[in-house]
Amino acid sequence: MFGSLARRLRWLGYDAEYRSDLPDEEMIAIAAREGRLLVTRDRGLAARRGVHALFLAAADLETQCQELMAAVGPSGAAARCTVCNGELASLPAAEAAGLAPAYVLRTQTEFARCTRCRRVYWPGTHWPGLQTWRT
Ligand SMILES: [Zn+2]
Repeated sequence: MFGSLARRLRWLGYDAEYRSDLPDEEMIAIAAREGRLLVTRDRGLAARRGVHALFLAAADLETQCQELMAAVGPSGAAARCTVCNGELASLPAAEAAGLAPAYVLRTQTEFARCTRCRRVYWPGTHWPGLQTWRT
């Protein structure tokens, strides 16, 4: 239920894993093992002893994002892959040939590639971040 929030946070440079298919105990274990803050709309889960969690009550994305950023502070990191949360690495324009649409290759000089899923990104016109194209 926080899929949109996870994607937004990745744009903003937060290391945001998103799993909606796991039982609570498994998510708690993963969060503990990887030193993650567990973000949940389950007040009971957030209140459990020994669980490092943040309860978000808001249903809308903007408020969720504001509440989370108020709780954890700015990311201070570069954007991550919005699809898989992988880190992005700079991709030389010469190597982007064939990996982005022709009009993008003609107009853009900066590219980045996800180190995990290999998706290619470039600066967007409508979003002050990055755009991607399924390769
Ligand atoms: Zn990726």
